[in-house]
Amino acid sequence: MAIWNLGSINIDHVYRLNHLPRPGETLAATTYSVGLGGKGANQSIAAARAGAATLHLGGMSGADNWVVDRLTSYGVQTHLLQRHADQVTGHAIILLDSTGENSIVIHPGANRQLDSGTLAKALSGLGKGDTLLLQNETSHQVEAARTARERGARVIYSAAPFDLQAVHEILPYVSVLAMNAGEAEQLFKAMPGDIPVDGLLITRGAEGAEYRDMETGQVTRQSAFAVEPVDTTGAGDTFAGYFAAGLDRGDTVATALELASAAAALKVTRPGAGDAIPSYDEVQAFLH
Ligand code: ADP
Repeated sequence: MAIWNLGSINIDHVYRLNHLPRPGETLAATTYSVGLGGKGANQSIAAARAGAATLHLGGMSGADNWVVDRLTSYGVQTHLLQRHADQVTGHAIILLDSTGENSIVIHPGANRQLDSGTLAKALSGLGKGDTLLLQNETSHQVEAARTARERGARVIYSAAPFDLQAVHEILPYVSVLAMNAGEAEQLFKAMPGDIPVDGLLITRGAEGAEYRDMETGQVTRQSAFAVEPVDTTGAGDTFAGYFAAGLDRGDTVATALELASAAAALKVTRPGAGDAIPSYDEVQAFLH
């Protein structure tokens, strides 16, 4: 089947620094580079590179062929993107220190200005057995999730950046809720009872990840692969996109977790976000 992703697209401006600036501090960057990012675009690239038919829904400035060319080059289908003449493409200022730690400022731009009618039309082809990916960086996520569930599609939602209100609103339509450890901690504090979804995916950085089947209570754990991290930007997105592609392909949860963990480990050894996500063949070579 196919993976549909209503997700953000950001152009990442990446500055390397010896340390992250403290309030009031001015620092000169040691390097500067531009790459494709945004949680949505990263997850689409990961899903497509993992081998899934992947369609990206989302918005950008009218004139941004660079973004379209880039997504296309990684195998992402872009014909459902919204082009907005009066909006800037979303972008991010990413600061990286010498250990790979990051601080990020995002300007959402077109990501938060999607047209609801255009989106509904774009989603008209989504059907039973397809997967809708969502994160917290676009508009109209709840209506898209509702539509997807009505059509019998699986909805995988990354609660990132964390927003409790957004989680509450979308939860009735979510099949798999994906979070990193920090996001999970915030959610469990705010919602101490059982979370009403089919599955919970929690990633814990270098400590690995786990998937909890909420119906059976079964927990499948996956350790992280030992690598030297260079840049952790997009690790969670690589994991989510690969995991979604695994489920889409019919892999077991354990296999999907292993592939996702290997893909994310490879990603953290490379600088960049979307452009640093490994292909399926690279992940297989890493595993064998
Ligand atoms: P996020 O990027 O959303 O904060 P995490 O930090 O939990 O998410 O990372 C997602 C996944 O990426 C982890 O579950 C792990 O598989 C992989 N990963 C992240 N950091 C490392 C690391 N230092 N070494 C190996 N794998 C890592």
